[in-house]
Parts: sequence; C-alpha cells; structure tokens
Amino acid sequence: MLKGKVALVTGSTSGIGLAIARAYAKEGANVCLNGFGDKDAVEKERIGIEAEFGVRAIYSGADMSKGDQTEAMVEGAIKSLGSVDILVNNAGIQFVSPVEEFPPEKWEQIVAINLSSAFYATRAAIPGMKAKKWGRIINTASAHALIASPFKSAYVAAKHGIAGFTKSVALETATFGITANAICPGYVWTPLVEQQIPDTMAARGLTREQVINGLLLHAQPTKQFVTVDEVAALAVYLTGDMARSITGSIITIDGGWTAA
Ligand code: NAD
Repeated sequence: MLKGKVALVTGSTSGIGLAIARAYAKEGANVCLNGFGDKDAVEKERIGIEAEFGVRAIYSGADMSKGDQTEAMVEGAIKSLGSVDILVNNAGIQFVSPVEEFPPEKWEQIVAINLSSAFYATRAAIPGMKAKKWGRIINTASAHALIASPFKSAYVAAKHGIAGFTKSVALETATFGITANAICPGYVWTPLVEQQIPDTMAARGLTREQVINGLLLHAQPTKQFVTVDEVAALAVYLTGDMARSITGSIITIDGGWTAA
C-alpha cells in the first residue's frame, strides 16, 4: 500500500513509534527512524527493518527538543530518501509531579519534545508534500489531549496543544491532498508508562499494583492496555486513500477511557 512513499517517524527507537515505523515498512514504505537508545541496538533494528521488509531504512539521532536539529532531520531524510510523504510526530516524554514542585526545566523539555518538535518537523515537511499534492501528518497525542490527570500538568498542556496544532495544520493543507490528524491512545504498555510508575507511587502514596490496576487500568473501561500494534494499525489506516477525508480529527484509541 505504501510502496514509493517515505515515512519519517520521530521517537521510533521504542514503543509506539517503533511499531508504527515497522508497520509502514511492512506496507512497503522507506522509513526514517529517530530517537535515542543504544547505538548498536538502533543499528540492529534499522538493518532488521531493511532485511525483513525489503525497504530502505535510515536513522537520525536528532534531538526533538532542538528545533534546528528537528528541521535538519526532515531535510536530511528528503535528501537521502527523496521525500517525506508521511510524517509522524510521535516523540514524547512524561514527568509526574505536583505543579508547585514541577521542575521548570522539565516543563520546558516536555513542551519542546511533545509539542514544539511537531511544529518544526511539520513546517519542514509541508513544502514537499504540497509540491507532490499528497501528504499525511499524524501526531501521536494522547487521551490527555482531551482530558487531564493530576500531576501531569506539562504533559496535559502539551498534548492539548498538539490537538489544536493538528486542527490548524489540517485547515491550512486541506486543498493540497494532505491530511493532518492526531491519534489519542489511552494507556499503552511501553517504557514511557513503565517509567512513570515509581513517580506516581511516590506522588500518590500507592503501591505498584495499585498504580497499575487501581489507577491506570481503572481509567480504561476495557481494563486492558492498548497495544502498540493497535495504534500502528490506526496509523497505517490514516495513510490510505480511504482515509483522505479524515483530516483535523482527534481520534481516540483508549479502551473507552474518554467516553466515561
Ligand atoms: P517510549 O518511551 O517507548 O518512546 C518514546 C520515544 O521518543 C523513544 O524512541 C525515545 O528515544 C524518543 N525520544 C524521547 N525524547 C526524545 C528527544 N528529545 N529526541 C528524539 N527522540 C526522543 O514511549 P511511547 O509510550 O512509545 O510514547 C510515544 C508517544 O506516544 C509519546 O508522544 C507519548 O506521549 C504518546 N503516548 C503514549 C501513551 C502510552 O501509554 N504509552 C499513551 C498516550 C500517548
């Protein structure tokens, strides 16, 4: 389905982003990976994608908290692979703390990575998409783009921000064959969720079991974590021709969390 297309997925060395990049490669797209991680492990993943799916895969170690590096990553992908037809702004981090104790540097970092990086990558990718009259921009937002939880002020602010950004971009690009949408997962079992458990235990005075079952899964009526493959399948669907009228949408995949 995606033969001849190039997909750049930020934050794709782990979790949701890696599943999306692999799913696009499976559909025949050449991919640009991005994110942090052990150098050898990232290279193994990159080579593995090329071998398994018969596509080209490149890697950029650009830091998504830096606008100039983010723009250079997009330009580098266009140079190496010919275009960026599908851009998934997915890189993200979390930090859990009461707002009055929230470290300002953590606030700045979360806003930069979870929100501003999408601006820098999108502005670099849109001219090429407009020229080809085809493009897909998918922002990994969160259920926290629609509702809040305590102690996640920066994350909730950034995710609400990306929902608004998605809608603006969709309106600006609607007549150019470009769609822009936000995917809003509930809790997906990835390192990002696993790593916030100790801080949530401390902030709320709960045990690990109470955080997982009483707090995280309590939020989701299905009582199950969303899987990375489910999110990736939605990201694939949004690139298809049958999804060309879906734009400016904030799409939940959250086990019913935000319906409650
Ligand atoms: P993860 O920790 O598994 O992956 C995050 C990725 O972002 C990694 O590849 C990491 O290296 C990369 N990254 C972090 N900081 C970066 C930086 N400065 N520059 C470049 N790359 C950077 O987390 P995940 O759960 O897969 O999260 C992916 C996205 O999904 C995030 O935007 C997150 O907010 C969102 N999300 C996750 C969940 C969940 O429950 N896991 C739910 C809703 C939304």
